[in-house]
Amino acid sequence: MATVLIIGAGGVGGVVTHKCVMNSEVFTKIVLASRRIESCEKIRDQLDEGAIEIAQVDADNTDETAALIEKVGADIVINVALPYQDLTIMDACVKTNTPYLDTANYEHPDEAKFEYKEQWAKDDIFKEAEIMGLLGSGFDPGVTNVFCAYAQKHYFDEIHTIDILDCNAGDHGYAFATNFNPEINLREVSAKGRYWEEGKWIETDPMEIHMSWDYPEVGPKESYLLYHEEMESLVKHINGLKRIRFFMTFGESYLMHMKALENVGMLGIAAVEHKGQKIVPMEFLKTLLPDPASLGPRTKGKTNIGIVAEGLRDGKKRKIYIYQISDHEACYKEVQSQAVSYTTGVPAMIGAKLMLEDRWSGKGVFNMEQFDPDPFMDELNVQGLPWKVIELD
Ligand code: NDP
Repeated sequence: MATVLIIGAGGVGGVVTHKCVMNSEVFTKIVLASRRIESCEKIRDQLDEGAIEIAQVDADNTDETAALIEKVGADIVINVALPYQDLTIMDACVKTNTPYLDTANYEHPDEAKFEYKEQWAKDDIFKEAEIMGLLGSGFDPGVTNVFCAYAQKHYFDEIHTIDILDCNAGDHGYAFATNFNPEINLREVSAKGRYWEEGKWIETDPMEIHMSWDYPEVGPKESYLLYHEEMESLVKHINGLKRIRFFMTFGESYLMHMKALENVGMLGIAAVEHKGQKIVPMEFLKTLLPDPASLGPRTKGKTNIGIVAEGLRDGKKRKIYIYQISDHEACYKEVQSQAVSYTTGVPAMIGAKLMLEDRWSGKGVFNMEQFDPDPFMDELNVQGLPWKVIELD
C-alpha cells in the first residue's frame, strides 16, 4: 500500500503515470501534479476513470510542494518536471521526510550547465531526515548506469573503458523537432563535448568527435560525442575505469537546423528586447516547435541505447555490449507516448517500485550504480524494456 506523487505531466510524466497504474499492487494511490492542471487532465483522460487523482502545483515553490506532499500523504515523490525543479522538490521531500526520485540532474535556468554538485550536497540533510533520494532513474542517466553496474558485477574484475551509445532512429516526419523538452534537449546538444580519460575531463568542440556505430536492428549511424551526466557519477563508482565517453546519433536534418538556429541566435537563453518586450530566444523557439508529446502518434522506427565495456576478467581481455531496443509505435500503442518518453518513464517507475519494496534502500542521496543491478535488470525485462548482452571481440 503506497501513495506516489508524480510531479510533471509532460511526455515522461504520462508514461510514469500509465506504468504506475499498470503496477497498482505497489502504487495503490497515484496522484499526478503539474504546473498546469490541463496537462494532468489530458493524461487522466487516457486512463480508466478513478485510476489517478490530479493536482496543480508550482514545484519551484518548496512550501507549496511540501504542502501537497503532506496533503496527499505521499510515500514517494517521482520528479519528472524539469531539471530546474530538482532542488526545490528535494527540499520539499526533506521537509516532509518523503523519499525522492528524479531522472535528470539539476540545471540552473540561466546557465546551460548541469552537474550533480548541488544535489550531492543534499546527502547530509537526506540522511538527517532518514530518507533516500535516487538520482537519475531514467534511461540515460538511469538504465545506462545500471548496465555499467551489471557489467561490473557479472562480467569484469576491472572495467577499463565504457562507451555509452544512444541511438534514436525514430522518424516523426517533421524537418525539425526534439523528442523531449526542446529547451533541455537543445541546451545539451549545442554545448561543448566532454569525456573523461585517466582521471581528467577533456573538452571538445560541439560535435567534434564522431564515429559510425552499427546499432543492432537499426544499422550504422553517425554518433557524436557529447557530455552526459551519468559519466560524472560513473567515474566515481566503476573499478579501474580509464576512459568513459558518451555518443548520441543525430540525423543530418536535425544537425543542419540546429546549427542554423544557433547561428542566428535562436538558442540563446538570455533575454533580448523585441518591440519593447523582453523575450528569451530559446523559450520562443520552444513555442514554435512541435510539442514532444504530440510526436507520439507520428513517430516510427526504433531506439537502441546501450553500453560497450572493455576490461579484464581472470586476467584476460573482454569486451561486451549491453543494449535495449524499443519501438516507437509499440510504445505509443501501449501508453500513448513515443519511445524516448517511454524509455525514461519506465525506469522511473521501476526505481520507485524498488524503493517502495525496500529492494533498493538507504539513507542519503544515491546514483543508480550504487545499488545491486540485478533486481532492476529483472524488472526491465518484465516492464517493457528487455535487454541483451553480447560478447564482442
Ligand atoms: P516536458 O516538457 O514534456 O514535461 C515537463 C513537465 O514539467 C511539463 O508538463 C510541465 O508542466 C512540468 N513543469 C514544468 N515546470 C513546473 C513547475 N514549476 N511545477 C510543476 N510542474 C512543472 O518534459 P519531458 O516529459 O520530456 O521531460 C521530463 C524530465 O525528464 C526532464 O527533466 C527531462 O530532462 C527528463 N528526461 C530524462 C531522460 C533520461 O533518460 N534520464 C530522457 C528524457 C527526459 P505543465 O505541462 O503543467 O506546464
